[in-house]
Amino acid sequence: MSSSSSSISGSSRSSSSSSDETVVPLLSGGAGARLYSCANCRSNVADHSDVISTAFQGRNGRAYLLGGVDNVVVGPREDRHLMTGLHAVADISCAHCHELLGWKYERAYEHSQKYKEGKFVLERSKIMKDCW
Ligand SMILES: [Zn+2]
Repeated sequence: MSSSSSSISGSSRSSSSSSDETVVPLLSGGAGARLYSCANCRSNVADHSDVISTAFQGRNGRAYLLGGVDNVVVGPREDRHLMTGLHAVADISCAHCHELLGWKYERAYEHSQKYKEGKFVLERSKIMKDCW
């Protein structure tokens, strides 16, 4: 174990805020990890830093578009006609309680929807904010 006592003052924040999402101020204090949990069993399924869009349209209302999720099981891939065209999607379920949480975009056939490939959608009604 090397005990290096480097005391460099001045913390340089390298967080580039490229997204123009509106951050709603919640309860102040405790700026820890902001997590999303399964609304059914409360196991962590996503991190807020993975959220790409909070204004996504789900099947039953608002949903989140994410670059990555945790503790989910990806179901079989199938072609599905969505509002934005034909997509190859796979349902994603909670790994613990198997509640259906949303879906994954395996492939987008429309060129304008290619950015969704490999992304995940979580229905807002299926998840809850934890540690916020
Ligand atoms: Zn669950």
